[in-house]
Amino acid sequence: MSWLHTATQYLIPTLCMVCEQPQAEIVCDPCRDRIAQNRRKFGPACLVCALPIKPHQSLCMQCEQTKPAFDRVTYLDLYQEPLRYPLHLLKYQKRLACASGFALLWNTFHQHTLKTCDADVLIPVPISPTKLAARGFNQAWEIAKRFDLPKSVIRIPNLMVCHAVHTAQASLNRAERAISTQDRFALKEGAASMIRDRHILIVDDVMTTGSTIHSLAATLKQSGAKRVSAWTIFRTPPWES
Ligand SMILES: [Zn+2]
Ligand SMILES: [Zn+2]
Repeated sequence: MSWLHTATQYLIPTLCMVCEQPQAEIVCDPCRDRIAQNRRKFGPACLVCALPIKPHQSLCMQCEQTKPAFDRVTYLDLYQEPLRYPLHLLKYQKRLACASGFALLWNTFHQHTLKTCDADVLIPVPISPTKLAARGFNQAWEIAKRFDLPKSVIRIPNLMVCHAVHTAQASLNRAERAISTQDRFALKEGAASMIRDRHILIVDDVMTTGSTIHSLAATLKQSGAKRVSAWTIFRTPPWES
């Protein structure tokens, strides 16, 4: 480590969002290494929903039986420590700097995915007006706007709206979640021309059952979208949902 690097750490102090030690960057090198280690443990994944599969499979049982409305899911990590904590800081303690941290990690670990991204339009999963008023921001948008994407990907934060106030997703089981997300999302008036025959990329923070992304993707495809991909910071395996 050079003297300049050491000096910079003290001149521009910030807290690593993971270990909360003063650092030059929002995620320090040792914490990035921990996340890289987690990622090396990922096994084969379903080509559509990204859930773990056996080596000889290409799709999970669920996608094999009923293909969801979305076409592909990419994630940063499973919903686990050490990154679960900074997501809570972002969402429930409004520590907005953590959005930069998650974007930095995505830009670090998904360089190829970003460089080769052929989506036309990026949208965040919309949050309800009630949640937006309470939190002050949409966490998925705060992360997504910092992705190092090609200029060809147009980012539109309000293409879709979430109008229904619903029960907290965490307190519902799988079937109840599917019902609660029905009719929850709508395309903004006049937005159909922006998605017709286009590849849409949805960004989310946590994907659990996939019902939210499925519901958004179904609405987008009904309005003419050609393809729908989803990038999510966390993927929760079914045994933890
Ligand atoms: Zn750290
Ligand atoms: Zn699948």
